[in-house]
Amino acid sequence: MLKIAHLYPELLGTYGDGGNALVLASRARRRGVTVDVVEVTLEDQIPDADIYLLGGGEDGPQRQATYALAKDRALARRVDDGAVVLGVCAGFQILGTSYDVEGDITVEGLGLLDAVTTRGPKRRVGDLLTRVGSRWIVGFENHGGQTELGAGVSPLGVVEEGFGNGVLTGDAGRHVDGARVGRLYATYAHGPVLAQNPWLADELLGLALGRDLEPLVSVADQLHRERVEAVGDFHGAAFAN
Ligand code: GLN
Repeated sequence: MLKIAHLYPELLGTYGDGGNALVLASRARRRGVTVDVVEVTLEDQIPDADIYLLGGGEDGPQRQATYALAKDRALARRVDDGAVVLGVCAGFQILGTSYDVEGDITVEGLGLLDAVTTRGPKRRVGDLLTRVGSRWIVGFENHGGQTELGAGVSPLGVVEEGFGNGVLTGDAGRHVDGARVGRLYATYAHGPVLAQNPWLADELLGLALGRDLEPLVSVADQLHRERVEAVGDFHGAAFAN
């Protein structure tokens, strides 16, 4: 049994990131895995789960979610136990050390990632395309915060289109997106990101299940290939999938 906890959808659900839970469940079930998806509300205690999902949200609900997560402590404990976590946008910022919201209030994050979010010079809205090794993440971003990663934290990928974390990083001064530390993944990409990038859903499932998954033939995989090819045509470059 694979248990997926979708955390506070009533607070972190403005951008359709709840679709990430549906995608994980569907792709696991199609491999014969029994799945339980739990929607955890503010009223609930956070259950023990194999995968935790945190979506994007507005500043106010984001703060409420942060306080509730800090009080419950189950997420931090489960991360120590090896659970897989995906944080998107507000979810990413919450996992970090601290973030500033409108009005310049600094909120302490969960500290599961060494990442500090401050207000950016402008809201970053638009398409986001990130290279992760030989793979691509396509999605869109909409955030006022920008995130600086600590020295020991790797970004999830290098941005080709858009802003991602929004601060230039490394000697080459590139934009990067998200973070990856062990089994903790974070990104600014909505979409929902796992619907648009099924390979990433399979990577998370593979980690949680402790095995490589057999490939799936699905419309989502085909659409991902087509989107990446379309970007390649647009850029006149050979974009591998
Ligand atoms: N409120 C945060 C910001 O604007 C997160 C936004 C989001 O989750 N899309 O930076």
